[in-house]
Amino acid sequence: MRALIFDNGLSLDAKRPEPRREEGDCLIKVRQAGICATDLEITRGYMGFKGILGHEFVGEVVESPGARQWIGKRVVGEINVVCGRCDLCLSGLSNHCRNRTVLGISKRDGAFADFVRLPAINLHEVPPAVEDEAAVFVEPLAAAFQVLKQVKLDGKKWVTVLGDGRLGLLCAQVLRNAGCPVRVIGRHPEKMRLCDQWGIRSRAAADITPRHDQEVVVDCTGSASGLEMAMQLVRPRGTIVLKSTVADGKALNLAPIVIDEINVVGSRCGPFREAIKALTEKSVDVTSMIHRRMKLDQGLEAMELAAKPGVLKVILTMD
Ligand SMILES: [Zn+2]
Ligand SMILES: [Zn+2]
Repeated sequence: MRALIFDNGLSLDAKRPEPRREEGDCLIKVRQAGICATDLEITRGYMGFKGILGHEFVGEVVESPGARQWIGKRVVGEINVVCGRCDLCLSGLSNHCRNRTVLGISKRDGAFADFVRLPAINLHEVPPAVEDEAAVFVEPLAAAFQVLKQVKLDGKKWVTVLGDGRLGLLCAQVLRNAGCPVRVIGRHPEKMRLCDQWGIRSRAAADITPRHDQEVVVDCTGSASGLEMAMQLVRPRGTIVLKSTVADGKALNLAPIVIDEINVVGSRCGPFREAIKALTEKSVDVTSMIHRRMKLDQGLEAMELAAKPGVLKVILTMD
């Protein structure tokens, strides 16, 4: 099969063997997959991952040894494959399983390929109302919903999403739908126009004078300087939600966290069910966030394009 592989460099392998059969795993024929910041970070050495990239996908189950009812179903998949036996799994924190592998991120081949394997327990059926290119957004949208699980936002008036990239725009829409008067701080006029279209306030980072007055700041910049700005925006005793992994290694002065008694909440994967519901109801607009659709065979160019500043979602199609 074809697969986009990272092994110190990025390459497209046309003759990669199909994924190994492991007990209980379903074989899924991938239809579309989305490129995300994590994929780009991996190509810069994040997680030390080697193998097939890609964790945001939609596909059709073609083989399902343990659970035949899945065959033919159009599915998306949760990316953490867990043991179900360790102390963290048993205490309800299976996303943090000590023995986990993570699709296209840690010790498990991903979905930028013709086929991918996942256990049936990870799969969610996609309702007919959700098209393939929207279903590709389930995983990152679920991550945006995780913010609502971790921070109580009722009645909070001063909520800022920092960063107008793919994840920032999803978080902003989810927060708006939750009744928050959210504001986005970004750098790209075309993305601010998208916010206007959605009725979400936005400001250019260059026009902001941080005043330590925000109750919650959701940092989706993926950069150390973003976290620095979040520390200047948040009010004393306020909360910073860190949505993106910062791997640029810049030294940070963390004293403001102590001085202003800031709560810092790390936030990763979230509830698929809520993301699928939002896409079914079309309460979150993802199609406006698609920058370009490209064939898997153009995978190298697609990764290059997705890394350019200002580019939103690049989708790989496998047909
Ligand atoms: Zn992702
Ligand atoms: Zn476990």
